[in-house]
Amino acid sequence: MLNFILNLIYPKKCIICQSILPVDNNQITCPNCKKYIQYIKEDCNNEFFNKKNVFITRNYGVILYNEYIKKVIHKYKYGKKEHYGKVLAEIMNDKITEVVKKHDIDVIIPIPIHKNRFKTRGYNQSEILAKILSKKIDVKLDRKYIWRAKDTKPQNNLSIMMRKNNLKKAFKLVDKQNVSYKKVLLIDDIYTTGSTLESCAEVLSAHGREVYSLCLAVAVK
Ligand SMILES: [Zn+2]
Repeated sequence: MLNFILNLIYPKKCIICQSILPVDNNQITCPNCKKYIQYIKEDCNNEFFNKKNVFITRNYGVILYNEYIKKVIHKYKYGKKEHYGKVLAEIMNDKITEVVKKHDIDVIIPIPIHKNRFKTRGYNQSEILAKILSKKIDVKLDRKYIWRAKDTKPQNNLSIMMRKNNLKKAFKLVDKQNVSYKKVLLIDDIYTTGSTLESCAEVLSAHGREVYSLCLAVAVK
């Protein structure tokens, strides 16, 4: 009954075209937009994606970063659409379950954003995803272990070299004597060049952690 009323007030909408979905529909898109959610079956270290990092053992992604997903993630990040996190985490659920089991992951860590950006955006989009997923699949979440020391420029218009320089010493670890993580899974929204993940992973691996990554959407090179 409560669900029925809630559905009348806040009808569930297709995440891509915003058309209203039937009350009993448990999909995240309308039938027409379903084709734009393109799931990735393998990991992303293969020839097709070629997502290889020095400090990351294996990179995983859930769906392809196409023009439709780009718009959805953009709204999620910059459009004060914090509630999109719930639907997007739903998309990631099966893949993260598989990755955590396969690699015996101890802890999931969202890519941190700088406190200045947190202030303007109001939330860290990757942290929301990681928080929901951690509860759902019952794996430890650590949001404080790694933090962003440098307020880096937006990466979008920078070359790969510039991205690397931009990210130098961007991340720091909190010195916790009692932390004994062996295998860490980094969570982020988009994988494009992978330089942010790499920079994060470098710090973690310098402290003896084995690093994996899982991103919601992966751009084909
Ligand atoms: Zn739709």
